[in-house]
Parts: sequence; structure tokens; C-alpha cells
Amino acid sequence: MAEKRAIKEGEDVDSKLQLTEFISVSELANLMDVNFTDVISKCMSLGIMVSINQRLDAEVIELVASEFGFEVEFINLEQEAEQEAEIIDAPEDMEPRAPIVTIMGHVDHGKTSLLDYIRRANVVAGEAGGITQHIGAYEVTLENGKEITFLDTPGHEAFTAMRARGAKVTDIAVIVVSADDSVMPQTKEAISHAQAAGVPMIFAINKIDKDGANPDRIREQLSAMNILVEEWGGKYQSQDISAKSGLNVDLLLEKILLEAEILDLKANPNRFANGSVVEASLDKGRGFVSTILVQSGTLKIGDMIVAGSIFGRVKAMTDERGKKKTKAGPSTPVQILGLNGAPQSGEKFKVYDDEVEAKEIANHRAQILREQGMRTKKHITLDEIGRRLALGNFKQLNVIIKGDVDGSVEALSDSLQRLSTAEIAVSVVHKAVGQITESDVLLATASDAIILGFQVRPSSQAAKLAENENIEIRYYSIIYDAIDEIRSAMEGLLEPKIEKKAVCNIEVREVFKITGVGTIAGCYVMDGKIKRDTKINLVREGIVIYTGELASLKRYKDDVKEVLSGTECGLGIKNYNDLKEGDIIEGYEEIEVKRTL
Ligand code: GDP
Repeated sequence: MAEKRAIKEGEDVDSKLQLTEFISVSELANLMDVNFTDVISKCMSLGIMVSINQRLDAEVIELVASEFGFEVEFINLEQEAEQEAEIIDAPEDMEPRAPIVTIMGHVDHGKTSLLDYIRRANVVAGEAGGITQHIGAYEVTLENGKEITFLDTPGHEAFTAMRARGAKVTDIAVIVVSADDSVMPQTKEAISHAQAAGVPMIFAINKIDKDGANPDRIREQLSAMNILVEEWGGKYQSQDISAKSGLNVDLLLEKILLEAEILDLKANPNRFANGSVVEASLDKGRGFVSTILVQSGTLKIGDMIVAGSIFGRVKAMTDERGKKKTKAGPSTPVQILGLNGAPQSGEKFKVYDDEVEAKEIANHRAQILREQGMRTKKHITLDEIGRRLALGNFKQLNVIIKGDVDGSVEALSDSLQRLSTAEIAVSVVHKAVGQITESDVLLATASDAIILGFQVRPSSQAAKLAENENIEIRYYSIIYDAIDEIRSAMEGLLEPKIEKKAVCNIEVREVFKITGVGTIAGCYVMDGKIKRDTKINLVREGIVIYTGELASLKRYKDDVKEVLSGTECGLGIKNYNDLKEGDIIEGYEEIEVKRTL
């Protein structure tokens, strides 16, 4: 498909090629009107070994084309198709729609209680039966007839899953903070998530029924983060509530409506529907069941839907009360049957009137996805920067900084921001002291960021999640190294370099002080193997507190050269005696990593 669309403009020196990424060597040769052997030999002279049918990524295409005197412009078929089909509604067709709200906050601060209360409460104009099903989203009608749609998965996950696929679904974020506690790490993360997405926040200061509740302390802590609530002369609305008894929840809902009014949310209900997928699963009896949120237009039974590479006709539609529906307008969540698979959360969907076209689009996407899945990294990495620069749509490098002390985090953040150039802005999405958590990885997924760990490590769940989500975590112990590496990547000059690669993790289980010898730790090798000359980092609660070498390595009484995973051993660290039970000793090797194109 690339070659069909590609056109060559003019024959003069500054010829421009319009093409898609991943065209093959022979296709590229055709476009430039040169022999494919010339392209292959040019590649070889650039140190890239290719065959005639090999597909090339953007960076290589740009490099090779420029050698032949061509400029390239990359077009993204999917995007292009979307833009073509994007319907711009006339202002007079727009009608007000309900706000879509996500509830976020620290664990146990009352998110679920608030959602539950709203779901069954008397603040909602009583529809008989109440909400019986969890479908991932629900709509409530207040006594004044106004409606609000809630995404019914409390926490960052729902929000992030949506954002990760580029869906802007949430209009307003309600941040729940418990008045008997304080602004906690996840509260801050929730705020970072909302700010990164540019979604307005309303604060719900919860549990005011409890003894010891002190809402003012929360307002004060928020103000220390530069978030001034209205009572304190700021722009953020906040409401003291009790999610348990329902006290003031009606006032909170009013504030949501007020915020919605300011946002002036509108959509055109009189056209083919589009929107986002909230969740989807395979149900034994019914086939694929998807909850989708209509954002524009009206969805009807029988409509042909495409969501990513999934398609199908809507066979049945129900709301959160299990009631059958025949149509659903803007801001309405519905559960539908009839798709040929389970689309991902956050995937956009659209209705097509032509079945053949819909299937073609879905299949074409499946093909592109396969190719991209094999060939490209889903998320940004330092090596990926060069490729995206070549594609020409890389404007901002997002980073998340976690460090062992505030001073280093601030210093790193300041220096990195100063690296911003006219082409790429470096933006620090989140920075904090402490271990790298799952939430950091989720935020990185959603905002396509690299995580920089300065003398800190991820928790094991975070490491696993990062691996699954292809999030790059880079570790540094010298600020200059971090800055230097990122600067080089931004200049497209990533040199082969020495990288530390973790080779084992060892848990300290007992500590013995031996006079004349120093501290010896009784340890267990959790994974990998440790050798006598392995260099080590000592990690305590996710923070690297010492880097050095072993002084001794023993099995029982004998000195040994190496100890394997699943075995106990005794060891001492050179010039370091302050070992504690529960410490993790991370062994690493220094290897030369070549930059791959
Ligand atoms: P989540 O983790 O944020 O979803 O928090 P939950 O909604 O599960 O609430 C955590 C605990 O706090 C539960 O035991 C709730 O009963 C309790 N809780 C929630 N809201 C209130 C409240 O307004 N007042 C009191 N006293 N307890 C509350």
C-alpha cells in the first residue's frame, strides 16, 4: 500500500518523497528511481546490512534517501484516514452533553464508597431497580434532570488505560482525599495524571464525619503543592463530604455540573456515532461483550462499528440497569454485543455505513498493527528517539524522575528541562523521591514517557509491568551521565556505551558482626548467579545506598567463586558494614551496548 500512495514530486534536486514507514528496500529504490543494488550498497556503506525485501524504519529511510539527494515526508495512513473521515460539526448542530467523570485518589480514601453511594443514592432521581450491573461506566440523572456519566473503575487504571490509547474521555477528575489522613503519594500521582491530561480537577475531601477529620489540613497540604482550592482564593473547587453517610455528596455533584457548564460540553447527536471503548471481555454464553461510551452521534442497533482492528454489527444494547436500549446518544455508556473480538480499553470506535469499507479498514489496521508490533517499540526509548525524529512528529520528550533524595531529583529535573531545544521540549511529567512504583509505570504508559531512576529501583511489580508495557527505565548514579545520555539521544548521536546490566538479586536474611572481620551477611540468591568478582549495588527499600565490590563469598565455611540462584550463601562487602536484614544486593556486569538502527 505504501508504494501505491507514494508520489514523487518533480525531478529537480530537492525532490521530496512522500511515503509510509516500513517500505522495503526495493520499494524505496523504485521510488527514487535507482537500482536496488545501489540502495543495498549505500546501506552497507552506512553500516546497515539489508536484503532486497527488508523493510526499513523511518530513520534508515531518511538516511538512505538523503544520500540519494531526496527529502522524505512520512505519512501515516491510519492518521490520514482518520483525518479524512473526521466530521466537523456545524455549531448549530451541537447540543449540550453530560460530563464524563473519573474518580481518583489514594487507596482507602473512599473512591469506591463514593461511586457506590452515587450509584444507589437518593441524590439520584430514583429510577426503580437501581444500578445492578457493573459495566465499567454508568449514567446518573439528578433530581433537576441533569445527567452525569461516571467511569466506574476507581483509581488510575481506567483513566490511564484510556489515555494510553490517546482517547480523551474524561472531562472532569474528582480527586478524593481523606480528611483524617493527608495528601498521600497516590493523591499526588492522581493530580499528576489529571494535570498531564489537562483535565480539570475537583477535590472531594472525604470522611468529614470521622473524629479527627481535619479538612483544613488537606487544603493546606494542597496549597503547598500550588493547588489552591476556592475557599483559599484559588481556582479549584472542593467539597467536604462523607461518602459513607452521603453528606454533601449532592453538593459535590452540583460542583461537577458547574464545572461542566464552564467547559460547555457539546456534541452532535444526529449523526453516526463515535466514541471510546471502556472495557471488553468474552462472555461464555454471549460472545464478546463490550462497554462503550458514545461521545458523538447516536449509536443504534444494527450499526456497523469498527474499533481498532475489531468490527461487527451491534446486535444488542443494554444500559447499566440491564435494560434493553435501541439507541444511545452522546455521553451514554452502553454494553453491546456483536463485535468479532474484544477491543482494548480506550480504543476509539466509529460507525460506518458501508460494511465492506468497515471490514477493509479493520483488516488494514490489523495488518499495520502486526507490522508495527513486530518492528517498532510501542513506547519511547532513548534509541527510539532517532526514529521518531526522522518521522518528524517528535516534539516532546516526556520523562518521569524518581530519585533517592530531593536534591538530586530537582537538580536532574532542572538540567533536563534546560536541554529543551527548538525541536524537542523535555518535559518532566512527574518527579518524586522514592522507589519506582507501578503507578509511575502507568503514568509513563499514558504519557509515553521514559522513567529515569537516580539511585533507585522499581518494585518487582513495577519492573514486571514496565516489561509488559515496554516502558524504558534507565538507571543512573551520576547526574552528568543522565544528562549526557539524553542530550546525545536527542541529537541522534547515541554512541555505543558501557551499560550496567543486573545479573542477580540476593536477599540479606541475617547479619553477623564478627570482630576483626567486619559484617557478614547470610543471604539467599533469588535469581541469577553471583560471582566473587561481581560488582554490586546495595538496595534498601528500593533505594541504592551503596555501590561497591564483595569482600568475601562463601558457601558454609568455604570460599567459593560463584553461587547460583535458589542457594544460600554468606558474603561481606568491601569497606561497608552497615548491612541490614531485608536489604537486596543487586549484582551487575558492565557490558558494551551497541546502538542498533
Ligand atoms: P478506596 O480504596 O479509595 O476505594 O476506598 P473505599 O471506598 O474502599 O473506602 C475505604 C474505607 O473507608 C472503607 O472501610 C469505607 O467504609 C471507609 N469510608 C469511606 N468513606 C468514608 C466516610 O465518608 N466516612 C467514614 N467514616 N468512612 C469512610
